[in-house]
Amino acid sequence: MAPQYDAIVVGAGFGGMGAGIQLDRLGLSNYVILEREDDLGGTWHVNRYPGLAVDIASVTYSYSFEPNPHWSRLFAPGAELKKYAEHVADKYELRRRMRFGTVVDGARWDDELGHWEVSIAGGETVTGRYLLTATGFLSQPYTPPFPGIDTFAGEIIHTAAWKDDADLTGRAAAIIGTGATAVQLIPEVAEKARSLTVFQRTPIWVAPKIDTEIPVPVRRMFERVPLTQQVARLVNTSLLEALMVVGVLHFKQVRLMNKGVSVLAKAHLRAAVRDPETRRKLTPDYDFGCKRPTFSNRYFPTFNRPHVRLETNSIDHIEPDGIVTADGHKTEIDTLILATGFNLWDVNFPAIEIIGREGVNLGKFWRDNRFQAYEGITVPKFPNFLSLNSPYSYSGLSYFTTIEAQMKHMGRLFGELRKRGATTFEVTERANAEFLDRVTAKLGSSVFYRGDCATANSYYFNPHGEAALLRPTSTINAHREAVSFPLDDYMYRTIA
Ligand code: NAP
Repeated sequence: MAPQYDAIVVGAGFGGMGAGIQLDRLGLSNYVILEREDDLGGTWHVNRYPGLAVDIASVTYSYSFEPNPHWSRLFAPGAELKKYAEHVADKYELRRRMRFGTVVDGARWDDELGHWEVSIAGGETVTGRYLLTATGFLSQPYTPPFPGIDTFAGEIIHTAAWKDDADLTGRAAAIIGTGATAVQLIPEVAEKARSLTVFQRTPIWVAPKIDTEIPVPVRRMFERVPLTQQVARLVNTSLLEALMVVGVLHFKQVRLMNKGVSVLAKAHLRAAVRDPETRRKLTPDYDFGCKRPTFSNRYFPTFNRPHVRLETNSIDHIEPDGIVTADGHKTEIDTLILATGFNLWDVNFPAIEIIGREGVNLGKFWRDNRFQAYEGITVPKFPNFLSLNSPYSYSGLSYFTTIEAQMKHMGRLFGELRKRGATTFEVTERANAEFLDRVTAKLGSSVFYRGDCATANSYYFNPHGEAALLRPTSTINAHREAVSFPLDDYMYRTIA
């Protein structure tokens, strides 16, 4: 019984779209992209809070094969990313493959028929030879179970479900959380609200953001001479690579450089915030890189404004008209903004139930053993499955470096399948174990294990205490291995 599709892709963000483009290039054009939201773009469709922008410069934060000469700023606003996603979907004819409002419940491998059965909420089942999950790392919004939150009488807004018509003018607002999202949002809310209290549990490292409009003549140059934009991309990507590889992954060898970055970030804070006590509270006590740092010039000065207050006492409970902290103080508010991020490890690895060969449940396998995936993309006992958001898959600082390395991995793997006339692949236990040993050893030099991360509360660490999110190699290494991994790291079969 032939499956309905060559491939089923879950997720219509940049990861799923990259997978779709690559499937077309490989001649596997009969695929469907299932998306739970009502439109494409993933995080750039879902997130639309004020101040949303990339914090990786746009020359790098885009597909290398689809440069966009029209970015208005070095760090494009969120709406431009959404527009770029739409452009890519149209140009590569991805839209006709997409099914929106389609919530995937789970997927089960049928070893006899050699295909995946994917169940969709509502009872429908679709079958595909290959399954690719591109469900994102940051796609399951997290709301902490604050006691009393259900009794709050005002308005509650999670940043990942921003209400387009929300008008914060004159509001008494609170923002809980000081991650990269809050750093972008806080200055915007402060512009409108009558009062703003920021509830911080862990301060974030914030470096200066060298952002500016891209002048029209430069945009024209990018359009007419694409090589110029490629050079800009190369320069920016190399700088990010140095920061990531040298400052974070090789912490043991170059501790001083890491310290240098934190000295710069502290100087940035000192220059921006007048009150020494507020400065002290905003200063992280863990090493730079333990958790995702960010860039902003507007975040710190916001705390100088008379109607903005930083609260560092922990939240005890929420009442109908305010937030009560552990010291008994109540902050009266009418608007509660949750910048509390996403649940990565509990519900996102994997985002749907995936049952492989011999009935192995991927989520249970990862939790009972260790979080692992060969080259951050395949797992033993899960034939014909590419998990694009896997442990150790995130490479470099721009998600596009990960996407494109995975597209290359697909190219080599599916090329070999075709050469052998095979229909089924599965990574070997040996190759997977060797990869896990290698990344584990490499992490030994990183800031995660060599630095002081105890107080960082970082989502880079999983519940086992392992920093299993980022691939601890250079992106050059990730891309090189994607086109050169040993072909016998996989087993191949033909199922008629
Ligand atoms: P996040 O980094 O996970 O931050 C969540 C914040 O909520 C943290 O400050 C956290 O405090 C706080 N929080 C969670 N539970 C809490 C509780 N029970 N009590 C008090 N505070 C609590 O989430 P995010 O800011 O949405 O950012 C997520 C990621 O999205 C970023 O790391 C980045 O990768 C990406 N992002 C990218 C961009 C961009 O490129 N433009 C912009 C925004 C976000 P703790 O730190 O103590 O846990």
